[in-house]
Amino acid sequence: MVLDGKKTSNEIKEEIKITVASMKSRGQRPPHLAAVLVGNDGASLTYVGSKVRSCEYVGFDSTLIRLESNITEDDLLQHIRGLNEDDNLDGYIVQLPLPKHINEEKILLAIDPKKDVDGFHPANFGRMTLELKAFIPATPFGIMQLLERYNVPTKGKHCVVVGRSHIVGRPISILMSQKGISGNATVTLAHSHTKNLEDLTRTADIIIMALGMPEFLKANMIKEGAVIIDVGITRVQDNNNAKGYIIKGDVSYEEVSKKASFITPVPGGVGPMTIAMLLKNTLLAREWN
Ligand code: NDP
Repeated sequence: MVLDGKKTSNEIKEEIKITVASMKSRGQRPPHLAAVLVGNDGASLTYVGSKVRSCEYVGFDSTLIRLESNITEDDLLQHIRGLNEDDNLDGYIVQLPLPKHINEEKILLAIDPKKDVDGFHPANFGRMTLELKAFIPATPFGIMQLLERYNVPTKGKHCVVVGRSHIVGRPISILMSQKGISGNATVTLAHSHTKNLEDLTRTADIIIMALGMPEFLKANMIKEGAVIIDVGITRVQDNNNAKGYIIKGDVSYEEVSKKASFITPVPGGVGPMTIAMLLKNTLLAREWN
């Protein structure tokens, strides 16, 4: 069965839209999300554009702050302070990557955790890990929602996560092992130093691929009936396509889908869920603050 992220994300957006309409009808201010974009990176522009459009769709206020790529770190920090102090703003994101002369960690730490709807601040990451109220990073949050809404069994299952990035692999490995719906799995976290990865994936009930290597996971690396979550998004050159590239996931979908019990496609799986969960976090920010 295909775990349809496009359909599920649309359902979540509709739910948010209804909540926002009801807020507005009671005379309340709608949630307000801002996005900071430094420079003109093509992929970043696409991502931020689609986040802003989604905000408009659900009835949020949104602000796009575009800054020159040669902005100094101090000036960027000044903007961040302004956003932290803006009472009409519930949450904001700083689109990564930032230009090389800016220390991403310093910027991340300057974001008020109460407005950190990306959930990248250590305060939120720590709270998430301790199972306290927190903004969960949008991609892992989206994966958990997909598993939950499709009633995919996770309790007592062996889950192998491939990739240990701070925004996907690491947090999803924590969430899958926690108590609660779509949790209670026994988790193995694999990375580039993992030996005999195939021995692990072949015994896994659930495999979450987040490494960014197109079509890495083949059918002979999984067992019959495994649940496959593909986070990977890589642009692969394709001259037959008008854009000159196509998007590939980390899973060899054609062959793996024949053996899997549940699988996310790329595109249309985890990707659209990420934006929906950013909206969800912004709504939570409006409710919590
Ligand atoms: P990173 O590029 O930060 O990290 C990749 C991880 O994969 C690392 O932990 C690395 O190990 C591990 N790895 C690399 N090679 C191997 C290997 N041969 N075997 C096992 N592990 C390996 O990953 P991100 O999480 O940022 O991104 C992963 C993919 O997900 C990318 O394609 C990205 O575009 C996509 N993505 C998609 C999102 C969505 O909304 N759907 C959101 C975010 C990312 P080590 O730590 O040892 O280097």
